[in-house]
Amino acid sequence: MAKTKYIFVLGGVMSGIGKGVATSSIGKIIQSHGYKVTVMKIDPYVNVDAGTMNPTEHGEVFVLESGLETDQDMGNYERFLNITLPPDNYMTTGSVYQTVINRERNLEYKGKCVQIIPHITNEVINKIKKAGQKNKADVVIVEIGGTTGDYENQLFTEAARQMKLRDPDNVLFVMLSYIPYPQKIGEMKTKPTQQAVRLLNAAGVQPEIIIARSERKIDDKRKEKIALFCNVEPEAVISAPDVESIYDVPLNFEKDGFAKVILKKLGLKNGEKTDFRQWDKFVQKVHQAKDKIKLAVVGKYFNTGDCVLSDSYISVIEAIKHASYNNDLIPQIDWIDAELFEKEKKKVKMLADYDGIIVPGGFGSRGIEGIISSITFARENKIPYLGLCYGMQLMVIEFARNVLGLKNAHTAEIKPRARDKVIDLMEKQKAHLRQGIYGATMRLGAYPCRLKSKTIAAKAYGKNKISERHRHRYEVNNQYIKQLEKAGLIFSGTSPDGQLMEIAELPTKMHPFMLGSQFHPEFTSSPLKPNPLFNELIKTIKRIKKSK
Ligand code: GLN
Repeated sequence: MAKTKYIFVLGGVMSGIGKGVATSSIGKIIQSHGYKVTVMKIDPYVNVDAGTMNPTEHGEVFVLESGLETDQDMGNYERFLNITLPPDNYMTTGSVYQTVINRERNLEYKGKCVQIIPHITNEVINKIKKAGQKNKADVVIVEIGGTTGDYENQLFTEAARQMKLRDPDNVLFVMLSYIPYPQKIGEMKTKPTQQAVRLLNAAGVQPEIIIARSERKIDDKRKEKIALFCNVEPEAVISAPDVESIYDVPLNFEKDGFAKVILKKLGLKNGEKTDFRQWDKFVQKVHQAKDKIKLAVVGKYFNTGDCVLSDSYISVIEAIKHASYNNDLIPQIDWIDAELFEKEKKKVKMLADYDGIIVPGGFGSRGIEGIISSITFARENKIPYLGLCYGMQLMVIEFARNVLGLKNAHTAEIKPRARDKVIDLMEKQKAHLRQGIYGATMRLGAYPCRLKSKTIAAKAYGKNKISERHRHRYEVNNQYIKQLEKAGLIFSGTSPDGQLMEIAELPTKMHPFMLGSQFHPEFTSSPLKPNPLFNELIKTIKRIKKSK
C-alpha cells in the first residue's frame, strides 16, 4: 500500500482570512482527483474541546456525529468534502495534555521525566497518524490553528517539523498568507509574507506552497517576488483573491493549477479524472439565482456585530444557502435582536416583511420573551417557521401558552419552579448539573429518530428513519404530550422508543410550515446535499411566493 501523505496548513501574517475554507478547498481538489482525503483541525487553546466556549468568543461549536464538540472549521471540511469526520480528526492543546497527564498518572511512562518534547509532541504525531489510519486516507490534511509566531501553536509546528524530518517525501507544508493592498500606495505588498516565512524558518519549517490571500488576484510580478524571497517556486505561489461565495474557492484553485502543483509535490499521479461537475453546477446556481427571499433569524444578539454572528451561526447560514441556491433562490438573512420585541411589543410586526423566520439554538434567558412573541407572530400570520433546538422548545412553549391556554408554560432552564414546565431537564442531566460537570455532558451527537408518516417531516426526508445531531440538556416534558397533541400539535419525530420528542410541527391545514426540531439539522447540510428540513422550508417559501 502507498504511504499516507500529510499536508500541514499553517497561517502566516494574520488570522481570519479563511484558512478553514482554504484547507477544505485543498481537500476538495485532491479528492476530486480520485484520492481519499481526510482533514484534521488542531486548535491551540487549552480547552479540552470547544463545548464550553461561548460562540461569540470562538465561533460556532460544531458537533460531530460522535458528539465531540469542535471548531466550526470541522463543519467546513464536512460540507466541502461531503464526508463525516470521526473524533480522531480534532485535537486541542488541552486534549493532548489531558491524554499525556492521564498516562503519566497511570505510571505508563515508567518513572521517566515527562516532557513537552518528546512526550507531548509524540502524542500529537501519534494522533495525526491514527486519524490517517482510521480514515484509511491517502492524504491527511492538518490545519494548525492560529498564526505563525503565536506562542500557543509552536508545539504543533514542532510536531509537524519532526514528521517532515523523519519522512520528507510524504510531508508537505502549505502556508496561507495575506498580501495587503494599501490604496494610498496602490501596490500589493509582499513584505509581511516574507517575514512570516522567516518566522516559520526559525521554527525549522520551510513552506513549499504559499497561498496568497488578497483583495484581488496577485500578478506574476508579485508571485515571482514571493517565490524569490520565500524560497518557493513561482508556480507554487497560489493566488486566492476575495470571492463572492466560499464555494468558488476550489474552482479558483483548480484554475490556478493548484492541483497539479500539489499532486506533483506529494509524488501523486495527476492522471485521475477530475470530477467537479456537481460542484460546478451548484456554484453556477449560486451565481445565476435571481429571485430573492428574505429570512429573519431571531435570537439574542445584544452587542454583537454581523461578523461575530456569521461566525456563531455558520452552519445555519450555510444550510440556508445550500437549500436556497439549490432551489434557485438568493437568501437574504437579517439578524433580528429579540430584545427589540421585549422593549417595544409592536415592533414584532416588522416580521411581516419576511418570507420565513428561523429561531436558532441557544441557551439562557436573554431575549426569550421576544423570541416567543415572534413565534406567535409567525404562527398567527402563517409565515413559514423553522425552530432549531431552542427554537423548537420555545415553539412548544408558545403553543402551550397561546393555543393550549397554559399561560404559565415555560422551560425549566429559565424558570425551574414554573407551574407548567412543558420543557424540562432530561433525567440524565440532573446529576451533571448538581455536581457542576458541564464539559461534554449534554446529550450530544447523532441519535436515530423515527418519523410519523404523512407529516411535513416525513415528506421532507422521504423516509421514516433518520439520524441527526444533538446538543441539548432539556426536552419536551412527556406529561404534557397528550394535551399538546389534543390541541393540535404533532410530534412528527421521536426517539425510536417514542420517549423523546424530536420534531414538533403544526398540521398543514393550520399553517403552511411551522416546524421545530430538537436536533440541529444544520450540521448535516452540504451544497450537494442540502438538509431536508431546510430544503422543505425553502420549497414552501418558494411555493407561497409563486402563488402570491
Ligand atoms: N438550551 C436548550 C437546551 O439545553 C437548547 C440548546 C440548543 O439550542 N442547542 O436544551
